[in-house]
Amino acid sequence: MSVTGGCQCGAVRYELAVPPSGTHFCHCRMCQRAVGNVFAGLTGVYKNQLTWTKGQPVFYQSSSVAKRAFCRDCGTPLYFGYDKGEWNCVTIGSLDHPEDLKLEQHYGVESKLPWLQLCDGMPEETSDPESDERAKGLVSYQAETK
Ligand SMILES: [Zn+2]
Ligand SMILES: [Zn+2]
Repeated sequence: MSVTGGCQCGAVRYELAVPPSGTHFCHCRMCQRAVGNVFAGLTGVYKNQLTWTKGQPVFYQSSSVAKRAFCRDCGTPLYFGYDKGEWNCVTIGSLDHPEDLKLEQHYGVESKLPWLQLCDGMPEETSDPESDERAKGLVSYQAETK
């Protein structure tokens, strides 16, 4: 069963060949900035399971190791993927049926906003580029880093 999603204006649509997994909220500073929100909701599939079915997003190289993508027309954040490896993510909110997902984890909690109360009991993990083969040597291209 394929899973579909797209941006707010409908110019960009995508299809996932299988239901996504690894659903998480990333609280890292780069995700916060990239989605303009308090965390990024992301869920993943293998790269060969994601097809852009209408239009093409704009890809932004947000660091030396990863790209993000958004709709050129309406700005909806759609995608995060490391250049290395076979896994990539779409934003939970861009799915047609985000209610079908189950949250599995909080990531990047070292930057979790102190006033954000999460009472869902999900495991929390800090991000550490050096412990992840895909992110080793990460250099952020974000205008302001913290
Ligand atoms: Zn759009
Ligand atoms: Zn992040």
